[in-house]
Amino acid sequence: MIIKFKALRSLFLLLGLFLFVTVTTGQNIPVPKNIIFFISDGMGYNHVDATSYYQYGDSGAQVYESPEWVKLAMATYPAVVAIDNGDTVFAAGYNPRMAKTDHTYVKSDYTGSAAAATAMSTGKKVHARSIGLGLKGDTLHHISQSAKALGKSTGVVASVPFTHATPAAFAAHQEDRANYGKIAKYMLFDTKLDVIMGTGHPEFDNNGKPSKPDYHYVGCSKIWQKITANKGKTVFEVNDRAYRVKDATGDGNPDPWHFIQTREEFIKLSQGETPPRIFGVPQIYSTLQQARDRKPGSKNPYDTPLIESVPTLEEMTRASLNLLSRNPNGFFVMIEGGAVDWAAHDNESDCLIEEQIDFNRSVEAAVEWIENNSSWDETLIIVTSDHECGYLTGPGDPDPLYPPVVNNGKGNLPGMQWNHDHHTNKLVPFYAKGPGAEIFKLFAGEYDPVRGPFIQNTTIPAVIFMMWDNGSF
Ligand SMILES: [Zn+2]
Repeated sequence: MIIKFKALRSLFLLLGLFLFVTVTTGQNIPVPKNIIFFISDGMGYNHVDATSYYQYGDSGAQVYESPEWVKLAMATYPAVVAIDNGDTVFAAGYNPRMAKTDHTYVKSDYTGSAAAATAMSTGKKVHARSIGLGLKGDTLHHISQSAKALGKSTGVVASVPFTHATPAAFAAHQEDRANYGKIAKYMLFDTKLDVIMGTGHPEFDNNGKPSKPDYHYVGCSKIWQKITANKGKTVFEVNDRAYRVKDATGDGNPDPWHFIQTREEFIKLSQGETPPRIFGVPQIYSTLQQARDRKPGSKNPYDTPLIESVPTLEEMTRASLNLLSRNPNGFFVMIEGGAVDWAAHDNESDCLIEEQIDFNRSVEAAVEWIENNSSWDETLIIVTSDHECGYLTGPGDPDPLYPPVVNNGKGNLPGMQWNHDHHTNKLVPFYAKGPGAEIFKLFAGEYDPVRGPFIQNTTIPAVIFMMWDNGSF
């Protein structure tokens, strides 16, 4: 037996060595030219199913659920939940046994969008409110920076303010997610992003109507006025300070932002020539659609008509892909269905489905782009979430867990019950297709009795860094 064990151990050591050599020399590791990273903020398994029941009268019906996609679960918890009266409260991780036997377990130690996006962009679990900074305030390295080092184009696209936690944490470094003004300046002047698209327009309200200016999400009004004037400037002098844009294209010259805001401008950008850099802020304040006033008695999705003057996330997706794919070296883009989370916080079943449908259509648009303009050999697509929000289940009492969402047929609101008005520590779904997608399976080293093998949110950039930087980050 001892000899057998030793032989087995040697075999494993050899296997390990082989893997190590393969990884360190970069042999046999796929290298995607493009990566399209979709995040539906707040989406859990039941959010996907509820939307599929409404859209198709069936579950498993989304493009990212088709058989050739890699499907895993993912843990989302941060490193530190909060600093409470000077005490650091470390997160307790995720315990599959507790999650299966105690329905209250997932209501604590959950992450925030800032820490979750930082983990998915840099590979480090951090403090719940951190944007791209480590636990000691150290500056972390984003996937978008690796992409730039390879001469690729980069972008962030969101259905919520462009300075909000998720888009910010894929490009910026800031100690608190609420510092929107500082984040806006950083994204516009300190990053080399080629595309920034998101809401937060100071001159419009949540219904898309012109309103008294509110610079909450964009910061300095003077910078906003100057940068949106589209005069091709690369230096902005404001309050005795000069803000300079970066060289995004790598030709040695700084590249001015080209500002767009109308729906027509977004749609036009989805085809043909484009300016090198786009700063796109639809004419709406906080979200594309979710925060609009609802008609009294609105109960089902679209009972309140959508605002026509703003683009959909799908239209923004098409526009960003057209611009970013002009670079022969490839691109990285993060596209966020941000208001899925806002609907879930408010426990709005109808809005949740509207937002998740726009997200689903955005993924479909990206798949269509890959099949028409790229290929599954050169573009990796990832679809996942940063955390579950709202503890969405079917109607009923926990025994020990709540029942699943109930299918009421296509076009009908499914049986849905909200059990929380905040995030949870539940596992979220992870889907991937394209070069490198299979690698994620190797990292699914933990097992959940309900959801199966799961990865950590930090696994995503770890795999991307391995493919793009030979594991040097
Ligand atoms: Zn979130």
